[in-house]
Amino acid sequence: MATLSDSTVAARAKYEPVIGLEVHVQLLTATKIFCSCSTRFGAPPNTNVCPVCLGLPGALPVLNKRAVEFATLAATALDCRINETSIFARKNYFYPDLPKGYQISQYDKPLAEHGAIEIKTAGGAKKIGITRVHLEEDAGKSLHEGFLDAAEKTAIDLNRSGVPLIEIVSEPDIATPDEAYEYLTRLKEIILYTGVSDCNMEEGSLRCDANVSVRPRGQKEFGTKTEIKNVNSFRFIREALIYEIERQVDVIESGGKITQETRLYNSNEGKTYSMRSKEQAHDYRYFPEPDLLPLVVDEKWQAEIRRMLPELPEARRKRMIRDYGINEQDARTLTLTKSLADQFEEAAKAAKNPKRVANLVQSELMGRLKAKGLEIEQSPVTMKGVAESADLVESGTISGKMLKDLYDLSFERGKDFPVVYEEEGRPQQSSDTSALEKIADEIIAANPKQAEQYRAGKKTVIGFFVGQVMKASKGQANPQLVNEVLTKKLEG
Ligand SMILES: [Zn+2]
Repeated sequence: MATLSDSTVAARAKYEPVIGLEVHVQLLTATKIFCSCSTRFGAPPNTNVCPVCLGLPGALPVLNKRAVEFATLAATALDCRINETSIFARKNYFYPDLPKGYQISQYDKPLAEHGAIEIKTAGGAKKIGITRVHLEEDAGKSLHEGFLDAAEKTAIDLNRSGVPLIEIVSEPDIATPDEAYEYLTRLKEIILYTGVSDCNMEEGSLRCDANVSVRPRGQKEFGTKTEIKNVNSFRFIREALIYEIERQVDVIESGGKITQETRLYNSNEGKTYSMRSKEQAHDYRYFPEPDLLPLVVDEKWQAEIRRMLPELPEARRKRMIRDYGINEQDARTLTLTKSLADQFEEAAKAAKNPKRVANLVQSELMGRLKAKGLEIEQSPVTMKGVAESADLVESGTISGKMLKDLYDLSFERGKDFPVVYEEEGRPQQSSDTSALEKIADEIIAANPKQAEQYRAGKKTVIGFFVGQVMKASKGQANPQLVNEVLTKKLEG
C-alpha cells in the first residue's frame, strides 16, 4: 500500500465520519409474511409462490402471526419500545423482481422504536441507538447467471417474494468503521440468541446497508451522505467504510462536493462505485396499506413475548464471570453462540471445578482448533469431554502432561475425550509408591553430587530429582507423590 503524505494524514484528521446502519434480517418462520407459501431456502425457482406473493390482481394479504411474534421478540431484545399499534404501508417503486409494484413495509408508525445496543470501543462502552425496528416483506430475486441463456437474459425467482424481514435502523451514532463492525457483531449475536433468524449472510438472511458522511470535527450539521448497499460480510463493510470515508474527505479537500447516492462495494478492488442517485423517502409515495388492518400488539401479548426472551449475551457474560470465576476473555469465547454457552454451563455445573473447565477451553482447546482451522462448534472434544478431562486432572488421576497427550490424540482421531481415554485404556498417573521408590533410589544413586548438594542445604535441587523421576516414569507419575518420596529418601 502507498504511504500517505503528511498533508493527507492531516486532512483526514480534520474530519469525523458519521455512520448509520440499516440491517435486514430474515425471520425464521416456516411460511411467508402474507401467505402460506414456504420460506425454505434453495427450492427450485418459482415453486414457493401463490397469487398473493406473485402480486396477482385481487389477491389479499393475511398477516403471519409468528412473524409479528418474532419481530417483537427481536425488538424487545434490542431494548426497543414496542408500539401497541403500528401501520403497514406501501412503499411504491418499480423493479422487475417486485411484481406488485410496491413493497408492504412500515413507515411512520413502525412496530418498535428507541432501542440501543451497547458496544465496546477503545474508549470504553458506548451505546448505539436503534431508531426503529419494522416488519416488511422481501422482494424476489433477479438472476443474472446459472441458467442457459444467461448471457442475454435476466431471470426472476419469486420464491423470496413475501419472505418476512425486519429492518433494524441505527441512529447515526457510529463514529468509526471498527465501531460499525462491533455493532454488527453484537447485533447478530443478540438476534441469534433470540432464535428468530439464522443470520446466514451467504443465504441473504442478514443484509446490511451503511449510510456514511463526513464533517469537519466539531461541526454539528451532518455532511451529505452516501449509502453503501448489500455488502455481504462484516469485514467488507468495515473495508468499504474505510474506503468511502477516505474518498469523501479527498473529494471535499480537493474542492468537490459529495453527491447523495447509492454506491456498491467491489471487494476485489476494495473500492466503492456509484450505482444510482439516492431516492428520497417522498419518491416512494408511502401510504397506509388498505388491505391490512393496523397491527395491534397489546400489553398482554408483549408480556407473553417478553417471557420468551432468553438471557442475552452481555448479561450472560457478566453472570458467567460471577458464577464461574472466569475472566472476560473466557466469557467472550464461551458465549460465542447460545448453544456453546449452554453446553459449557451444563458441563461446568457437572464438573468439580468450573474454573478449570474454562481454563482448559482456553489453554487446550482453542489453540488446537485454531491450528486445525476449526470453529469451536466443530471441535472433536465437546464441552462434556472437557468437563470430564478437567475432573480427571482435578482428582489427580491424570497429570497435565497426560491430558495434553490425550487432547492431541482426540484431535488426531477426531474423537471426543472420553472415547480416546477409553481407547487408551483409561491411563492413570502412577501412584504406585513402591515402583516410585525404586525409581527414586536409582536416580539418587546415579546422581550422588546433586544428592550431596541437597543434603548440604541446597533444597532447590529437589526440582532436578523430580524432573528425572518424572522422565523415568514417562510422565506417568503423580508429581506431588514423587516430591514426597524423594524428600523422604534424601532426608532419611
Ligand atoms: Zn405465496
